[in-house]
Amino acid sequence: MRAGFPDFRLGSVLATSFTATLTERRGNAVERIPTPQRLVDWLAVNGLAVDSCTAAQLDLARELRESIHVAATAAAIQDALPASAVQVINDCSIQSRAAAILTPEGKRQWRLSSDSCVEDALGVIAADAVSIIAGERDGRLALCASPTCQAAFFDTSQSRTRKWCDMNTCGNRQKKARFNANQRKRSRSAE
Ligand SMILES: [Zn+2]
Repeated sequence: MRAGFPDFRLGSVLATSFTATLTERRGNAVERIPTPQRLVDWLAVNGLAVDSCTAAQLDLARELRESIHVAATAAAIQDALPASAVQVINDCSIQSRAAAILTPEGKRQWRLSSDSCVEDALGVIAADAVSIIAGERDGRLALCASPTCQAAFFDTSQSRTRKWCDMNTCGNRQKKARFNANQRKRSRSAE
């Protein structure tokens, strides 16, 4: 983590890890890619390394992020997908010239058309969003149960009953709140 910047919330699903670069949307929102360089850092961690990013590319990234958030939220509650969000996701996907390549070890890697092509990287994220929103992947879109979060996340648990976007943050906070409420109740009944 770079000094002074909020760290990243990384999950196993690219599209929702990306939407988690803005957290606590219903509370005191935390922007985790506040500068172009932080988007460069985030992309590097996610196998989409670029060597630079402009302010305009960061704006585009955030527009894609919020469009994925809106579309994934609609999909999670089985609402109609907002056309403007779908348009942004599709445009990003269409414009990308990223190619999936196979490494000698049999792993998939993304090759971008150039090291400064943030748009290629965004296209990979957009395509990932398409696959989860279209229900092509094994899992279920759901909304985080934390009232200050309500992030759309992709539940791949066997029972499909995951309640929080992230166990270490939203899940933990909820558990602590319940524990404290119980403590209060107990101390009241002891009086
Ligand atoms: Zn959450």
